[in-house]
Amino acid sequence: MPFNRSMPLFAIFLVTSVLVGLVLPANAEIVALVEPHNGITYYDTDNMPKQAAMASSSLTAHGITFNITYADNGTNLGFDDPSEGTARKAALEGALTYIADVINATGTLDVEVRTSLDNNGISTLASAGTFYTTSNGFFDGATFIRINSGTKPFPGTPEISMQVNWGYSFNVSNDPPGAGIFDLLSLLVHELTHGLGFTSLIKSDGTSEFQIDHGTATFTSLDILLFRRTTPTYLLAGNPPSLQGNVADLIGGDIAFDGSTATSNYGSAPPIYAPNPYSGGSSMSHWDTGTIVGNPIMKHSIPPGVSRRTYAPVDVGALIDMGYTNASTAGVPSPTLTAISGEGEGEGEGEKPKDPVACGVASSMESTLWGDGMMFVGVLLLLIHLSRRNNQAQRASA
Ligand SMILES: [Zn+2]
Repeated sequence: MPFNRSMPLFAIFLVTSVLVGLVLPANAEIVALVEPHNGITYYDTDNMPKQAAMASSSLTAHGITFNITYADNGTNLGFDDPSEGTARKAALEGALTYIADVINATGTLDVEVRTSLDNNGISTLASAGTFYTTSNGFFDGATFIRINSGTKPFPGTPEISMQVNWGYSFNVSNDPPGAGIFDLLSLLVHELTHGLGFTSLIKSDGTSEFQIDHGTATFTSLDILLFRRTTPTYLLAGNPPSLQGNVADLIGGDIAFDGSTATSNYGSAPPIYAPNPYSGGSSMSHWDTGTIVGNPIMKHSIPPGVSRRTYAPVDVGALIDMGYTNASTAGVPSPTLTAISGEGEGEGEGEKPKDPVACGVASSMESTLWGDGMMFVGVLLLLIHLSRRNNQAQRASA
């Protein structure tokens, strides 16, 4: 075989193939945990803690069984706090029970509660999210996929992963929060709704949050319904999806949600949070706090002393539009602590109820597996994904 210019590439391909075979098991997949208030974390599905073996407790409510893993167990911290741990877990179970009642579906979900934080030096009170495949297109998150299909999409990963920062003062009772106290039930319902898939992957430049670290135009079932209200244009379209308007649209305060049920429930297309400057983690993933009417859960912030525990019709409409078609609040009580009641106002360890921020605004790209030493492997993985992407099932774009 005569030498030609393709030889070096062919040799690289051969070496790459051998190395990939050594590095990645055949069914390995890179998935991403997307938490609006924490950022993106990539995982190799073959390198995850085994959820079933770690499950700390199980809760069955309104047709859904939640297998809950508490990383705090045995530490006397956070959800294992000797005086408040029971009430904190009861609040989480109360929030999950409420959500199960609203979405009115059957199935099983694995919920991972990561090691708690205790840091009032950061604005994030809590974060939660679900997992997404890393391919080009619009995708549902793992929570919806498992509820909808009955099949766990990413074996080895939970469907919802969450974390609470106890560095602030939280109300852990069924009573309303006092002045300067954040309401835990309100916070948890908000965060877990991100865990249902109420989240955007649109970055400030209009590309996907996955674009730089993973090279894919991956977007969500919320993103597909976002549009510019003036001269109506969907923000994203095409295959792979790309920004259809201008980057200025993302900070123009003129974005709305095109879901038919949310629009019907609200009376018009509900406004999406799109401030200037772009607020990573808050922009696109919430209702427009300043203009949305009513008191929906999915505003981007909540002040201390305020209780916001129950979905507004616009919240439920959005869940229906994103695929939870049985969702309804008819006959559904507000969330309460499930195991105890009337304990009075709980106290966090912090004394600093700072900004009226529900769950923080930081959004940084985080990569637990892709450190500098993994750069070469990263290139190999990218090659694999490029070859795979035509075979990946995708939702049709708008
Ligand atoms: Zn949020």
